[in-house]
Amino acid sequence: RHFSATSFSAMAPISTPSRETDFLVIGGGSGGIATARAASGKYGTKAMVIESKRLGGTCVNVGCVPKKVTFNAAAIAETLHQAKSYGFSVKETAPFDWTTFKHKRDAYIKRLNGIYERNLERENVEYVHGWAKLLSRNSVEVTLDDGTKTVVNAKKILVATGGDPTIPPQVPGSEYGINSDGFFDIETLPKKVALVGAGYIAVEFAGMFNALGVETHLFIRYDTFLRHFDPMVQEAVVKEYERLGVHVHKRSVTNKVDKDEATGKLTVHYTEAGVEGKVAELDHLIWAVGRTPATRGIGLEEAGVKLDKNGFIVVDEYENTSVENIYALGDVVGKIELTPVAIAAGRKLASRLFGGEQFATAKLDYSNVPSVVFAHPEVGAIGLTEPQAVEKYGAENLKIYKTNFTAMYYAMMEPEEKGPTAYKLICAGPEERVVGLHILGLGSGEMLQGFGVAMKMGATKKDFDSCVAIHPTSAEELVTLK
Ligand code: FAD
Ligand code: NDP
Repeated sequence: RHFSATSFSAMAPISTPSRETDFLVIGGGSGGIATARAASGKYGTKAMVIESKRLGGTCVNVGCVPKKVTFNAAAIAETLHQAKSYGFSVKETAPFDWTTFKHKRDAYIKRLNGIYERNLERENVEYVHGWAKLLSRNSVEVTLDDGTKTVVNAKKILVATGGDPTIPPQVPGSEYGINSDGFFDIETLPKKVALVGAGYIAVEFAGMFNALGVETHLFIRYDTFLRHFDPMVQEAVVKEYERLGVHVHKRSVTNKVDKDEATGKLTVHYTEAGVEGKVAELDHLIWAVGRTPATRGIGLEEAGVKLDKNGFIVVDEYENTSVENIYALGDVVGKIELTPVAIAAGRKLASRLFGGEQFATAKLDYSNVPSVVFAHPEVGAIGLTEPQAVEKYGAENLKIYKTNFTAMYYAMMEPEEKGPTAYKLICAGPEERVVGLHILGLGSGEMLQGFGVAMKMGATKKDFDSCVAIHPTSAEELVTLK
């Protein structure tokens, strides 16, 4: 039951979708695909996914996947540099071949698009390439690639339309900048770039550019970035970015962007801590000021689905919207904007809706979700930050364990090549239950998952300490904190 074209195989025939289905999913991203596959593959429900762009959504096409591949390239650049300290005669005879890398990355993503399509086919999910709009709680209008419109009736509808990069502040010339989608279209290695923003994307992109030898300017509104993370993380990573040569423009406002039509180069005019300045000769300016839910113009309000003031769909803990039969999850509900969260919420919802009595109360537990920023160094966090823990438990009921040290990897390097490692464990109550864990340093991304399991099980400091250390690693410090 495979019905339509994907954007990369534009010549494939456009077929008319079924007129009736049991479960219609708007959005073929992380959440939509996971829910439809579980509904059909696991519970035998007749399901349909409607996707207007490329299968896999943000994560696969313009998010986690191409980002992590680029992060790997940046990590290799760092390793090549560091290899000299270990006695290797590494000669970097040519700059990083961004163009070849980019095309290989594109080809990988295209392969993934195909795999996602075949997975849907294998699990009997009807895939329709088109634009969906809600008409009522039980019907959706689909505009196919050739412009024809068709109406599909569905017993239940899931809205998993994700989001798009937020439109940047309207300063003169802001349109010369690009966003995170545009980052993945860059064809050649830039010499000089600027980024505006202070979240995951700005910090990850700035770190990657800098590691690949690009002069990088990061404009932030306050003194630190990643302000939702523990203060230890904010301070250490800002300091490290500055040490690595990223130009962090603190307390800055972008006033104007000019473009030299002859060279295509951009100039950003800004005010930093009250003083005006400019950065010229930029190949790119990237706005990374957040994401906006894709909820406008798809019939939600007309169908009576409630949105909050920021445009996110309002759902309860079971992903029910304000309208019976219509559900929503993933980035479009703005709870936690991460791929595994959308997938996990989707699988729970499929079980609840189609898995019978035993799953009648299935729902995702949104507490203690681990997350990693692929910064330089990597940052991992799970649970409460110290200020959040103080607010919840009171400072007198907390015990904070901290350490910072130089990982053994750097032992062979000169002082100026050594990166930071810092860990913090926040423990609450007399039993010292671990309610927050914050790590930064080499390998943090891979390290966090296992500690996440421990925290989900309610581990205490004593439990951490009861696990014999693995030596020599950085992670061992987390089970030997004093
Ligand atoms: P999406 O994946 O955005 O899917 C929504 C889909 O719906 C899209 O394909 C869209 O085309 C489609 N759609 C929208 N409207 C319609 C319509 N009317 N009709 C038909 N189709 C429609 N998360 C992580 O966990 N780890 C990471 O490392 C990470 N890195 C990221 C890096 C970047 C640069 C970005 C932007 C995001 C990153 N994320 C990461 C976040 C992650 O990509 C999202 O949380 C995840 O994709 C959300 O899944 P979703 O299903 O809610 O939405
Ligand atoms: P975020 O919401 O993480 O960060 C955007 C930040 O930009 C804001 O918090 C704000 O920080 C700053 N900002 C907002 N407006 C302006 C402005 N006008 N000028 C300057 N700065 C501004 O959004 P991102 O776009 O970085 O990422 C979106 C989401 O995608 C993330 O929240 C995350 O859930 C997900 N993601 C996950 C990744 C991962 O798991 N590794 C990687 C990438 C994305 P401040 O208030 O400090 O100025």
